[in-house]
Amino acid sequence: MPRCTVIANWKMHGTQTQARDLARAVRRLVGNRFRAAEVVLAPPFTSLETVRRALAGSRLRLAAQNLYWQPHGAFTGEVSADMLRDAGCSHVIVGHSERRRLFGETNRDVGRKLGAALEASLKPILCVGETLEERRRGDTHRTLSAQLTGALKGVPKSVIESLTVAYEPVWAIGTGRHATPAQVAETHGWIRRALARRFGTASGRAIPIVYGGSVNPDNAAELARVTEVDGVLVGGASLDHQSFAAIVKVFSTEFSTATGKTRTTDK
Ligand code: PEP
Repeated sequence: MPRCTVIANWKMHGTQTQARDLARAVRRLVGNRFRAAEVVLAPPFTSLETVRRALAGSRLRLAAQNLYWQPHGAFTGEVSADMLRDAGCSHVIVGHSERRRLFGETNRDVGRKLGAALEASLKPILCVGETLEERRRGDTHRTLSAQLTGALKGVPKSVIESLTVAYEPVWAIGTGRHATPAQVAETHGWIRRALARRFGTASGRAIPIVYGGSVNPDNAAELARVTEVDGVLVGGASLDHQSFAAIVKVFSTEFSTATGKTRTTDK
């Protein structure tokens, strides 16, 4: 039974051939080992089928990086939740800061996407996080609150076991500067309490909260040890199979050793 989650976000990188080779390499290194970690790969749309085939029969899971909330229709360039299910996805990333910042996604949009994902039995990975300016102004909690409220409005308690929240401070994404363990502990704790207020203590505690932002094999261990960190979302370092597998190993080890941490649900 996986106790933590390690997600690879390949963003807009790679041809189908490169995606196939990377997925095969990750499968070779991770395969049936490191079983305390659920491992999820999110390639670009064009490589979903290729990666699905590369992962077939393994315990590695497939995610999309985005979706549209309508089921079908005249929405040129968009992809629905049912289409992603059909393509073999079990998970979908929703509300990544690059989509919010570069493509103008609002909290309302993110909420609709999250609802569509849940409706289609896809597991949403909801990304939230503040900008550097917001953190400096002392507005981190205000930003996170708006993002969580917008996304989770109308979401019934009965489906939240499918949900993962990814805390990704915008200033840490792709910058080589990860949040400190103290910052991650404080913010994950705050998110945990917000989820408990929204869904009740037991349900709120059961939702995994993963950290994302310049995670690499060198900083994975200190992040894995932080209370309330239930895994990681990895961008840049996931494009190298050895780096990604090293991160999976760190998390799996931390979560499976007798003295290591237990997942939120076990607390
Ligand atoms: C991300 O893509 O969500 C991310 C965290 O990227 P990076 O690991 O490169 O900072």
